[in-house]
Amino acid sequence: MFGLKRLYIEKAAQHDEVTREVRHRLVHLPAQIIPGKEALRLHSPLTPQDISWAKETLLLARQQGPFWRGCPGTKEYICCGYQILQVMTNCPMDCSYCILQAYFNLPALTVFTNWEDLWGEMEAKLAARPEKIQRLGTGEFGDSLALDDLLGLNRQLIAFISRWPHAILEIKTKWHRVEPLLPLGPNPRVIFAWSLNTPRLIRQEEHGAPPLEARLAAAQKCAQAGFRLAFHFDPLIYYPDWEKDYHGVVARLFAAVPAEAIAWISLGALRYMPFLKNIMRQRFPASRIAEEEFITALDGKKRYFKTLRAEMFSRLRQWIAAQAPEVFVYLCMESPWMWRQVFGYAPESQELSRRLDERALPHLPLEKSSDEQVSCLKIL
Ligand code: SF4
Repeated sequence: MFGLKRLYIEKAAQHDEVTREVRHRLVHLPAQIIPGKEALRLHSPLTPQDISWAKETLLLARQQGPFWRGCPGTKEYICCGYQILQVMTNCPMDCSYCILQAYFNLPALTVFTNWEDLWGEMEAKLAARPEKIQRLGTGEFGDSLALDDLLGLNRQLIAFISRWPHAILEIKTKWHRVEPLLPLGPNPRVIFAWSLNTPRLIRQEEHGAPPLEARLAAAQKCAQAGFRLAFHFDPLIYYPDWEKDYHGVVARLFAAVPAEAIAWISLGALRYMPFLKNIMRQRFPASRIAEEEFITALDGKKRYFKTLRAEMFSRLRQWIAAQAPEVFVYLCMESPWMWRQVFGYAPESQELSRRLDERALPHLPLEKSSDEQVSCLKIL
């Protein structure tokens, strides 16, 4: 499975049911029991070699902190209010631009196995505010679907949220194997959300990720099964033919799925912490995407000049509107200035969150805005 070569199990996690299931499915891999996950911490920060090693290494451990987390956003950018369930961290695919390479200090795909705590926490949070729409997902610190054959997590999450009328599950992914979940449809409160890019960028930069046609075919199956869809054009990456290629992706998207099935589409441009550039150069020497001109933005990340970002967002928005004017489009982690350039207005984070809630559950009354700080760290 994904070329996994090593399996480590934290001692405290060895008797968890998830651990037993995973060991059963990875029976060919000898497991090494370690006293705690710190035993795997080789270097801090991880070296490029550690990052590559991590892609072939699975760690089963116990979540010591909360599973359910608000996102660590920044005050300068408008955020969407996605709530993170941190059941796993890291990803078996290997995109050159992936921010996770610079984010974690454990060289492993890590799965937290104390799911009884996950269910307990979700139950308590949802019961505390049953009228509040909660858009939940596991897709901020990894891919929501890529390890599902191994974990069977989404099947359980779908069953769980089905009991809570205001809970939405957004399964953010680049992965394509949806067949085991199709019999769980129809369920309009499950939104499968694919990150899309141009065939050229998928081939050159998204190593191990399915091609565009496989993602769109999976989306089509999910729509036919009665789930809803979302798409994230993130990261948009500049290269000389970007207009023709992204326009082509928009056309293929709407040829593959009905616009009525789409809850929203987000747009985000390439951004990365400065030290990621060295990691990219060492791990992906053929990649040129970090060699363009960037500025250091208010959050310390490298971003394209705002004029280029505004042009890319506006073009995408125009192409989407030409195909499906009713589809809600938003910017991920962008400033009020950028929103005004692209849409002519700039929502507060809470307003964006509320509008996504309306799209998520259009048939239910909304709880008025809370004083919760909503934010997201968008990394897919
Ligand atoms: S960008 Fe997404 S799919 Fe690619 S390696 Fe990172 S988490 Fe995985």
